[in-house]
Amino acid sequence: MSIADNIKSLKNETIPKKVTLIAVSKTKPVADIQEAYDAGQREFGENTVQEMVEKQEQLPKDIQWHQIGHLQTNKVKYIAPFISMIQSVDSLKLLQEINKQAEKNNRTIDCLLQIYIADEETKFGLGFDEAIELLRSNEFASFKNIRIRGLMGIATNTDKEKQLKDEFQELKVFFDGIKQSFFRKENSFDVISMGMSSDYEIAIEQGSTMIRVGSTIFGGRVIKHWKNN
Ligand SMILES: *Cc1c(COP(=O)(O)O)cnc(C)c1O
Repeated sequence: MSIADNIKSLKNETIPKKVTLIAVSKTKPVADIQEAYDAGQREFGENTVQEMVEKQEQLPKDIQWHQIGHLQTNKVKYIAPFISMIQSVDSLKLLQEINKQAEKNNRTIDCLLQIYIADEETKFGLGFDEAIELLRSNEFASFKNIRIRGLMGIATNTDKEKQLKDEFQELKVFFDGIKQSFFRKENSFDVISMGMSSDYEIAIEQGSTMIRVGSTIFGGRVIKHWKNN
């Protein structure tokens, strides 16, 4: 099936209307994104700043870009003028810089706190305690140019359905608690970003409101086995 067909079947047949589809276009060429755009897709996810900025310059300006990969503080300035949502907030220091750059650009930037739910050493994210500590801090209370929209999580790379279900459920339960404790009056705290190509169906069953799907839309990515820098 074509990229356009994949988008249409996901949106019209597979995922409920209330779940937002982020098309993860990392490593894929601008032409592929344009094809998805022409099929009606407007929200795209990238995991590196450089790639996002290059693509953003070449593509229609009504695309909503989501940063989904680990973000270094010194790169926030490059995406601050246009980024729609930063899903990978994993420290107070990063949030501070996002706030600063958002202010410089006269905007409020939507963010998700990335929560560590996987049973893997390599994934970025805040632990439950760290997230609570961040939300309780005086510094957090002083940020005027960011809006926390919810939480994001990446489950373990496994095909064990029970484990995936448990991890997604853990994030949903944590989301409900955080909403009660910190965002009771804020209707905009409404995003649970969980689920990718291999596990989005389970994530939706567990209460996901936003899925990040790459290979199911654009086909597999070539994995780099080595780095030369
Ligand atoms: C690459 C990526 C995805 C999409 O992965 P697929 O398996 O291709 O759907 C989702 N979320 C994050 C954070 C990613 O880096």
